[in-house]
Amino acid sequence: MHDELDQLYRDVIMEHYKFPRGNKDISDADLANMGQNPACGDEIEVKLKLDGDRVKKVSVSCLGCAISVASGSMLAEVIEGKTLAEVKQIARIVKALLKGEDIPADINVGELGDIEVLKGVRKFPVRIKCALLSWTTLVDAIDSFEAGKTTEIGVSTTDDGVSYHDHDHTHMGT
Ligand code: ZN
Repeated sequence: MHDELDQLYRDVIMEHYKFPRGNKDISDADLANMGQNPACGDEIEVKLKLDGDRVKKVSVSCLGCAISVASGSMLAEVIEGKTLAEVKQIARIVKALLKGEDIPADINVGELGDIEVLKGVRKFPVRIKCALLSWTTLVDAIDSFEAGKTTEIGVSTTDDGVSYHDHDHTHMGT
């Protein structure tokens, strides 16, 4: 059983590494961010095209080890169609999986594509940062996007992004 899990982990990681999802660039992205993991030499660029507060298109371009590329590919696969709030929640789940923390009982990790496999990275603590790179890069981008918008519409910063449902994105340009 143990060996089977190891094999599954390797197969899934290598499949994403060889055929990364979301590797098409987005020319009209609404938000973008670059991330680096100097400990391993991984570099990543994440871009999103939004439709309201939902992710319409994802672009992930990663130059790095198999785990960083595979994690970025899983990100691209799972966040399309999700709201920004859902994306941030998935990022928290990934972090919990990698750190061996409890996942909230109402979360079905099995519904999140291949993400569950990332818990195999726990056995390689030095690689946890590789697996987290795409997620932290994305969450930073969403946070600054939301912070920028909050400033723009003059809402207090204690408002935790709740109001953005009422706000359209036309000011982002076409
Ligand atoms: Zn790495």
